[in-house]
Amino acid sequence: MVDFKIIETQKYFKYNFENKTGNNSGRKVEMLFTTKRGGVSDGIYSSLNMGYSTDDSKASIYKNRAIVLNDFNFGIDKMTSSDQVHGTGLRAVEDAGRDAGECDGLFTDSREVVLAMFFADCTPVFFYDPVKTAVGLSHAGWRGTCGDIATKSVRFMKERYRSEPHQLMAVIGPSIGPCCFETGEEVAAEFKEKLKNIRVNEYIKAAPAGAKFLIDLKSINRELLKAAGLEDKNIFVHDVCTACEKDLFYSYRRDRGDTGRMAALAFIV
Ligand SMILES: [Zn+2]
Repeated sequence: MVDFKIIETQKYFKYNFENKTGNNSGRKVEMLFTTKRGGVSDGIYSSLNMGYSTDDSKASIYKNRAIVLNDFNFGIDKMTSSDQVHGTGLRAVEDAGRDAGECDGLFTDSREVVLAMFFADCTPVFFYDPVKTAVGLSHAGWRGTCGDIATKSVRFMKERYRSEPHQLMAVIGPSIGPCCFETGEEVAAEFKEKLKNIRVNEYIKAAPAGAKFLIDLKSINRELLKAAGLEDKNIFVHDVCTACEKDLFYSYRRDRGDTGRMAALAFIV
């Protein structure tokens, strides 16, 4: 049995797994998602902006990253991220010294690496294999979700770490909710065209006004993970909308593109 808890601290949400069977050989993982709180950035980036793909001061972003890593007794040199391109490319990282390049999923079974990906509305998916002790992160915006990065991530962990899908755990983190993720017809059509392995229509609703659609990215990723072999009881959703919660999160859509980034971090301790 695994006990799952979301713990809110000043700077972030921590996703805690407590393995009651005690068969994970004493190793633990940390998975967390930062908020806007507790950093040094000013103005629209106030205050814990973690992403360099913004016009915020580089010194402030560096400092923010160091503040968060320091909370876990890591130097900033342990953090590995990638150039996120809204694709479905995935990489395994063994040492933090190397840049992961262009990809939208990062995985590791090394204690020497802190995986990091950056978000402002897109859906972060955290993976944890308590048996093989490996972790992963995927960046599932609408394109990544449509490209089924969820299933590709599960397959990647199977190949790389011999993970058994029914033993994997996943957390679907804060992202733009179906309350705010409104799209045109062509995006809705692409979901229906590409995701034939799940009942995607259930998560695409006509918007109250005009020829628009509201898409539930969290639920679609949940269904994709189930189709990939994860057990329902091992998938956890942090059901919060980044666009609605303006005191907690940056939102690309709400802030019209000019905003900071939250970080999803995953590492083995
Ligand atoms: Zn919302």
